[in-house]
Amino acid sequence: MSTWIDSEKCNGCGRCLKTCPYGAIEMGSDDKVRILDTCISCGACLESCRQEAILTDVQPRTVPDFSDKQGVWVVAEQQHGQLHPVSLELLGKARELADILGQEVTALLPGDNISPLAETLVRHGADRVLLVQHPELQTYRPVVYTDVVENIVREHQPNILLVGATLQGRDLAPRLARRLQTGLTADCTELSIDQDEKILLQTRPAFGGNVMATIVCRYSRPQMATVRPGVMVPKQVPQPSGTVTDIPAKVSPARLAAEQVVETIRAAGRKISLNAARAIVAGGRGMGSAAAFAELEKLAAVIGAEVAGTRIAVENDWIAAERQVGQTGQTVRPELYIACGISGAVQHRAGMMNSRYIIAVNKDPNAPIFKIADWGIVGDVHQVIPELTAQLQ
Ligand SMILES: Cc1cc2nc3c(=O)[nH]c(=O)nc-3n(C[C@H](O)[C@H](O)[C@H](O)COP(=O)(O)OP(=O)(O)OC[C@H]3O[C@@H](n4cnc5c(N)ncnc54)[C@H](O)[C@@H]3O)c2cc1C
Repeated sequence: MSTWIDSEKCNGCGRCLKTCPYGAIEMGSDDKVRILDTCISCGACLESCRQEAILTDVQPRTVPDFSDKQGVWVVAEQQHGQLHPVSLELLGKARELADILGQEVTALLPGDNISPLAETLVRHGADRVLLVQHPELQTYRPVVYTDVVENIVREHQPNILLVGATLQGRDLAPRLARRLQTGLTADCTELSIDQDEKILLQTRPAFGGNVMATIVCRYSRPQMATVRPGVMVPKQVPQPSGTVTDIPAKVSPARLAAEQVVETIRAAGRKISLNAARAIVAGGRGMGSAAAFAELEKLAAVIGAEVAGTRIAVENDWIAAERQVGQTGQTVRPELYIACGISGAVQHRAGMMNSRYIIAVNKDPNAPIFKIADWGIVGDVHQVIPELTAQLQ
């Protein structure tokens, strides 16, 4: 498999240099381009050459016929008999995608004693709920869960498979993708269907959040994506009519012996649920100190909000890491988000821009946060926040 230059035809225009993602083409001293050893024959340069001087023996890849791969699936998640909200959020999106494709939505739920949860999954858009119940599936076990889900997915051959980007989902999804020999796009912020090819468009931030990349999985199935909690919106269907089927769990004793849950320890301290918060008061570098964050606590107490922060605030130890909002923190969708001393960098916006109402307090009238804020207060947080708290009190 190789790619080479017909130097008779090459006129040294250099157009191909920019098209190589691997920097594997260089201009020679003879004003003809040369292909370097780092070339992987991806073919990205071929169309750029008007002289047709780039030659390759790589056969163009053909897209297989996937017409037998049907259905949009969600691997639903539960803990101690409680559905994780992300499962319902994913079902809302799965319903939308399936309606465009004219396919069915299936929720696959592993666990034990989980039958009562099926109705909720149907109400949130599942045409079909597959329950895989077994005492050994009560708690997530990486290899056992992967075995179970893999077997069912192989048998039913879905078109699309969505998983929540939770601790569990982030572990399960890559294992599954590897075993099914398919692609996986992690932490998608948008999912849609390409009108022409009818394939899943998986959009997520890339290059440090500076661009949004749309990724497709053209040559394998299922098309797999994870989505973080709080990114999609759960929707209830007006006339739920899904079926519920129990599927026997094929659990191998050898795997069970290798993977045993010895003890489950709950994290100490108050549980942070920024995802579920109706109001959030968030602080950034402009707050200036941990003491200033105490002012945010006071404001939050008056309006019943949670306190959060930017990555800078976390790095300065002004607030705990679990309260970071943004691309590498949590994604939130409260009714009200008050951003205090926050510039509105793209990585922060990625986690909060779907808030219903955004109020920004910043001393710089040109701060980017004002572009997405519903209300803006140009001023010093040290004056504005105590005043706001006093007035609301
Ligand atoms: C890969 C990657 C992932 C990242 N992930 C995240 C993430 O998940 N979350 C996140 O938040 N960031 C993230 N970042 C960092 C991000 O790029 C920004 O650096 C960060 O969001 C900026 O935080 P900030 O708004 O607190 O600080 P700054 O950008 O420094 O803004 C401070 C703001 O405070 C204002 N200000 C200063 N003093 C006052 C005052 N007295 N009164 C009022 N306003 C004042 C200033 O005008 C300024 O607008 C990530 C970066 C990278 C590269």
